[in-house]
Amino acid sequence: MKYTLSMAKENWLQIEFEFQPTKVGRVKIGLPIWRPGRYQVQNFAKNIPEIKAFQGDKKILIQKVELSSWEIEVLEQAPIKLVYSYYAVQRDAGGSVANGQMLYINFINCLLCPKGFENQDCTVAIKFPKAWKFATSLTYKNPFFIASSYRELVDSPFLAAPQIHSFTWKNSGINFFLEGIGPATIFNEKLIASYQKIVAYQLAWMGASPIKKYHFLLWICPEPFYHGVEHTQSTMMVMGPEDRECYDDLIGLASHEFFHVWNIATIRPKPLLPYRYGEITYFETAWIVEGVTTYLGDWFLKASGVISEEEYLHLLLGNIKLHFDRDRFSAQSLTESSMDLWLDGYGPSTPGKRVSIYFKGAIVALGLDLMIQQKFNGARSLKDIMQRLNARFGNLKSGYVQSDFFSIAEEVYEAPLTDFWDLWVLGSGDLLEPLASILRLSGLALSESPTLGLQLSKIANT
Ligand SMILES: [Zn+2]
Repeated sequence: MKYTLSMAKENWLQIEFEFQPTKVGRVKIGLPIWRPGRYQVQNFAKNIPEIKAFQGDKKILIQKVELSSWEIEVLEQAPIKLVYSYYAVQRDAGGSVANGQMLYINFINCLLCPKGFENQDCTVAIKFPKAWKFATSLTYKNPFFIASSYRELVDSPFLAAPQIHSFTWKNSGINFFLEGIGPATIFNEKLIASYQKIVAYQLAWMGASPIKKYHFLLWICPEPFYHGVEHTQSTMMVMGPEDRECYDDLIGLASHEFFHVWNIATIRPKPLLPYRYGEITYFETAWIVEGVTTYLGDWFLKASGVISEEEYLHLLLGNIKLHFDRDRFSAQSLTESSMDLWLDGYGPSTPGKRVSIYFKGAIVALGLDLMIQQKFNGARSLKDIMQRLNARFGNLKSGYVQSDFFSIAEEVYEAPLTDFWDLWVLGSGDLLEPLASILRLSGLALSESPTLGLQLSKIANT
């Protein structure tokens, strides 16, 4: 499959797509309705006013058959060319932006794919001013960017701009890149040193890595912003405004997104393997994907020495408060809110209904981690669960379901955890007291003050 992209005019991508049909008859062509990382229908097709189809010089009929799919009647097995434009003004870590300052593309927004062609290799030609720099995890073989499949292509964001700050380093045979648009002062030695420590720690902690290269792509934008999206070989992060001190957010976000290399990109919930971009895909394990990653993302900052223990306790309390202050008495369990992610998982929801898979999920990960550490005097932890999950499911051949996670956790804990799952994951009861008692055994006091709200502190040794 061959794609050619250029900027036709401000805010518009001009796209040509050529492919060889494998049969005559009706061929269905689709655009993703969602993207991995945000489990909600986004209907990118709304940004395409029209599509023209050609075989040779001959214009052929293309018809809309669903919100995000079209059909062509193929009369002969000759290459088909589709020509269309895409309105690229979505300024977030999962969107696309085309203007005089930058060309920023998440191909999942805008590249069509014939049904059944998802594993075919792709070449992409992208036209931008010669003096501009570019950054992407895609392989570049002048003049094309190359992906081994449509799946890899739509998992690889692309940035081009007059100036891209670029840093590279190596760890465990993996080439790392930090590449970004924005004020040069943001891309300082302290940030790079922290990124190096975070990835070094996570690689050692997991013990095995599925990647050969990884790009931290960063856009420091003028508007207030905090958003990151995970990919297998990269992460796209958007942070703003330009004049704010965003170091703390940039290390926290990078640590979170990098752990997704394992926790979703390669250790995949079964319903998401493979990704079906044209369909809503429910999965009850969203709390494992985001909750464990939220908890560990912060914990890695402390463990790798990037932040102090005191700073870590402050972050941990922040996450704990985000659950208890907002969703403490919500009706749903974590599993139910995971299933409902597509309904109301992001943004505001009906009061008293949902729990956050991120923050309550992080509390479960914390509780589980501490319980295991306490039973085995620190010799075992959540690490053993994640390493075993990786060993059994990290090959993208079979996905896991919630009961797989439960049984691996019980194997590590060497005892049933039925009561824990019932209360913390499958139930909706208040977790303040159960969490406080687990924390207490690890030397931390979680208390509630009428004036200050929840407080977390170390219990002094007596
Ligand atoms: Zn995440």
